[in-house]
Parts: sequence; structure tokens; C-alpha cells
Amino acid sequence: MELAKRRGFFWQAAPLHNPIAGFYDYAPMGSLVKRRFESLWRNYFLSLDDNFYEIEASVIMPENVFKASGHLASFVDPIAKCKKCGHAERADHLLEDVLKESFEGLAASDMIALIKKHGIKCQKCKGPLEEVGVLNMMFPLDVGTGKEAKKAYLTPETAQGAYVNFALAFDVMRRKLPLGLAIIGKAFRNEISPRQGLIRMREFTQAELQIFFDPDAITSHPKFKDIEGYQLRLLPAKSRDSGKVAVLPAGQAKELGLPEFYLYHMAMVQKFYLEVLRLPEQRFRFRELVGEEKAFYNKYHWDIEANLDTLGGWKEIAGLHYRTDHDLQGHGQVSGQKVAVNIEGKEFVPHVLEISMGVDRNVYGLLDLAYSEEPERVVLKFPRAVAPFDAGIFPLVRKDGLDAKARVIFDVLKQHGFRVFYDESGSIGRRYRRIDEIGVPAGITVDYDSMQQEDVTLRDRDSMQQVRIKIEQLPAKLRAFLQGAAMEASGK
Ligand code: AMP
Repeated sequence: MELAKRRGFFWQAAPLHNPIAGFYDYAPMGSLVKRRFESLWRNYFLSLDDNFYEIEASVIMPENVFKASGHLASFVDPIAKCKKCGHAERADHLLEDVLKESFEGLAASDMIALIKKHGIKCQKCKGPLEEVGVLNMMFPLDVGTGKEAKKAYLTPETAQGAYVNFALAFDVMRRKLPLGLAIIGKAFRNEISPRQGLIRMREFTQAELQIFFDPDAITSHPKFKDIEGYQLRLLPAKSRDSGKVAVLPAGQAKELGLPEFYLYHMAMVQKFYLEVLRLPEQRFRFRELVGEEKAFYNKYHWDIEANLDTLGGWKEIAGLHYRTDHDLQGHGQVSGQKVAVNIEGKEFVPHVLEISMGVDRNVYGLLDLAYSEEPERVVLKFPRAVAPFDAGIFPLVRKDGLDAKARVIFDVLKQHGFRVFYDESGSIGRRYRRIDEIGVPAGITVDYDSMQQEDVTLRDRDSMQQVRIKIEQLPAKLRAFLQGAAMEASGK
């Protein structure tokens, strides 16, 4: 968190004033990484099928949307309130802090029983905690004024934006299923105890893909053969006590009661994490949620978790949710509009598989995994595809034409579409340290030899080794390096 602030990744929102917990602003480096995550996500998930598209939906929606979705009635958190000082806390988090196990989804009456049994008191004033109530987590607002004012809410998930647009989008996109509607956008939740920086916020960004499909098609997927042997990393509910991740080929994971359509998307999500974001595989797993732990709309619900040192272990960063026809049915009933589709004479309400990611949690996870302390430096070893810049361009000194030459190289690389920046201030060692701390994979330096030899040095952030590369070959060599080639392959 200290590095994130000092190097301009993110900090608490409204920094000039007394900040409110749970809100963060992205600074220049953080915005660059966040945009990179979003574009990797977009490229990858929209390519899963020709009929997947991105849309943008309003974040303020009328009350009926949330009557229909069930959020008005069911999107609540249990809270324990102190009789003496009025301090309120999330009851399950309080129990978790004191008793060191998870109580998510436990009934309010059971929470009260546990609070009494263990004599748990208010964490602020030691007063009595006697009731566990519920709080709806949506932010309400009035739109307009006077008699015309309308009750509305800030959306607590981007998903509803896709459901309310499904019927029109299905018609416009020539009535084919599966249809995917993706939204990268804001979500708002009045979290009772926001904490751990970007992990539990009150305003955050989600990247969600809603896949609408014929429920009869859930037992198959046309490309299942491609991933049948792919090794999924799974923690089924029954293995939770041992914490042992089962590594199972997707074909065999059917034994867990999961249908092919779901398993196919599990594999694609895992590939996104391991092959695009390059998470070390032992840091990744799916975790099965059962019974009351599942969100109220889900039939199958596996969280995607990353093992993050700064948070002391496994943390949910995404989810794969089979929401059935829960949402579309609800919207049909409340609006009185038709939500069923008719494909070749067969009429049915499509079901939904949702791939849901919290962008901020993922950015935090990438930072956690990248952060390394070495004897003489702190370095963010971001995968090359998510770093804020591709390379820094440096003249060794700011004279004798080295600076002019470095600027020309900077312009040329920019024209080739690289994200580069130019820096000529301070010693070269200090400039390398600076790019190490923001995680830039390559440092390109113009030195005195460059003036005769028409070459530069390329420094690899991770090994700190350097090679010399001819300037005319630089765009191609840098491209290969960013795509994963070893630095030694680029020059001597
Ligand atoms: P959910 O709709 O609760 O299943 O959340 C979907 C995803 O959004 C989660 O996997 C998280 O990555 C992210 N998310 C949920 N709540 C928060 C929050 N309060 N702050 C940041 N990210 C969140």
C-alpha cells in the first residue's frame, strides 16, 4: 500500500479532504495497469465466441430492476449493533476475527447464539451486542425532484445491465444463442466494513460476461474436446478441511456433478489466469460454494481464488456463476414484458452463465504477486503484458547528442505502438530503480558506444542483465521480448 501510494498506483479517494473508507482513486501508474487488465480481459473473453459483445449500461437504474433481480429483498448483510455506543459491524466478519473461521451465510439467529456463547463484545466500547439485523447494501437515490422524483439505486453489479438489455440485444443481434453480453463498469455496495484496500470497496469496477444459452445445451459444449484433458485446479466443498487442491482433467471433473458447458468456461477462466495474466499455478484455484454460502441467485457457484501473501492466504478475486433463469424470469414478471425467446419453434427462457471479475481485486492481486524485495531494490515483477509501460528510454547522460538520439528512439518506438516513456533526470542507476518499482520490464539506454555503433542496451528488469541491440532492429526485438522471448535471444 505504501509503494502503491508513493509510486502513483492508487490512494484513498478525495485525498484533499477527510476520506471515506472504501473509496479509492487510481493514480497514473495504477490507471495504466487497470486499463491493461481491462483490455486483456476484453480481448480474451469476447473472443470466446463470435456472438459475444460488449455493451455499456447505465449505473443508475429504477427500483423495479432490483425488485425483479431480488436485490431489494435479498442483497443484505448481517450486522451486529452495540446497544451502548451504536457501533455496527458485519456479524460474520466479527465472528471470523474472533473465532478465526468463516461464518459467511450463517443464519442471524445462529450468529447471535455464537456471539452469546463466546461472550463477544463491541470491539469499540466493550458494550453488549445483542441483535443481529440486516442491512441492504444498495445505495438508494432520488432521481429528479418533487412529485416526479423517482426512486432508483446505484447498481450493485454490472450484471443487471446485461439482463435488462437482453431482449433488445437478442433481437438486434439476429436471435442466436449463446449470446454473450459483457460489461466493464462500476458497481456500488454500501459495505459495512470496507477493508484491505482494493479488496472490499464501496465503489468498484467489475468486468462481467453474461452468457445466455438454451438450458438444454448445458450438458455439452462444441469445443469441449479441446479442453477435455486440461488440468483444472479445484477445491470441492468436501475437501475444504484438508485444503488440498484436486488437479483434475476437465473430462474427469464431471464426476463433481458439473456439466460440460460449465466446465468448458472453468477451463477458459483458468487459462486466462495462467496463460494471459501468468499467475503461478500453485497460486490459483477454484473453490466450490455450497448451500447458504452461494449468492442467492446461483445454482453452481465456484469462486476463483488467488493465494496472496499480503492478505495472508487465499482470496476471492472472481466467480463463475450459473444463475439459471433467475434474473430473466424476475425481469419478465415485474415488467410484464416477454423474456422468452423462440428459436426454430422452441420457446424458452434462456439461462445465464456469468463470469464475474472484480477488476480492482485483480489489479491488487497482480501487485501482490509482482512485489519482490531484493537486497538492493524493491521490484514489481509484473508479467510483461500488464506492466504500466513497455520500456523506459534513457540517455546515459544529458549531453553530447545522447539525449537527442534517445528522443528519436523514443519517438520511433511510440510510432510503432509501444508504450514507452523518456527520462533523462538523475543517475542511470536511480532511473533503473524507478522503473523497477513501477514494474517496467525493459530499460533502453543510449550510451557513448551507441553514437558510433548505432545500437542501444536493453536491460531486463528481472535479471538486471543487459544486451546490445542494433537500433534498426529494436522494434522487432522489443516486440519479441515483450511477447516472452528471453533477453539473451535479443543480442549480445
Ligand atoms: P459478487 O457479485 O459478490 O459475486 O462479486 C463478483 C466479484 O466482484 C468478486 O469476485 C470480486 O472480485 C468483486 N467484488 C465484490 N465485492 C467487492 C467489493 N466490495 N470491492 C471490490 N471488489 C468486489
